[in-house]
Amino acid sequence: MKIDWTLIDTVLLDMDGTLLDRHFDDHFWIDHVPMRYAEKHGMTVAAAKERCHAMFRSQENTLNWTDLDYWSDQLGLDIPVLKEEVNHLIAVHPFVMEFLLYLRQHGKGIHLVTNAHGKTLDLKMRRTKIGPYFDSIVSAHDLGLPKEDPAFWGKLQEKITFIPERTMLGEDSETNLETARQYGIEYLIHVGRFSSQSPVAVSQRFTTIHYFSELIPRDGGSRVEI
Ligand SMILES: [Mg+2]
Repeated sequence: MKIDWTLIDTVLLDMDGTLLDRHFDDHFWIDHVPMRYAEKHGMTVAAAKERCHAMFRSQENTLNWTDLDYWSDQLGLDIPVLKEEVNHLIAVHPFVMEFLLYLRQHGKGIHLVTNAHGKTLDLKMRRTKIGPYFDSIVSAHDLGLPKEDPAFWGKLQEKITFIPERTMLGEDSETNLETARQYGIEYLIHVGRFSSQSPVAVSQRFTTIHYFSELIPRDGGSRVEI
């Protein structure tokens, strides 16, 4: 894939797994929540995992999946408080800051576009301090649709200005890259190294990068081939 930065005005970036290490989220939902659920309900961690994971799976690809209030209610746990307990695991992926600085220096519009709930966003922006690098931060919860829904991108365009043919999207979710492709977003980048603790995922459908440094021209020019 050839990228000529003179042809791109706007960069949309997903948060979890793309800019931030998904190890935090994976650990939180797979291990931490079931552990606290087991304590609360007097059951084994194995049984709690089975029950919690089934509940999570039932809400995949919906906004409930990332709705902390929904899960606090369903699980009888204060999910935002539990997130604070493991907040030391929230981390920015390597080379993200360099990439954001490159985009800033070259006058690109930069938008964080996430399915994350407002409470998760607050916590992560507080921990990582990356918020000021963005022209806007959009939560799917404010638009009423998750990125998995092809109608999401049209709704997003009511909120921020971008020309799909001159826009890049960085994502670790192939499903979301696919809905963006259907909408006509031209430059689709799959982030394969979504977690510091998991093997890299290589997409068969989209160009996969490990790190955003791969998108920064090294020769002072505006082009890069990945
Ligand atoms: Mg993601």
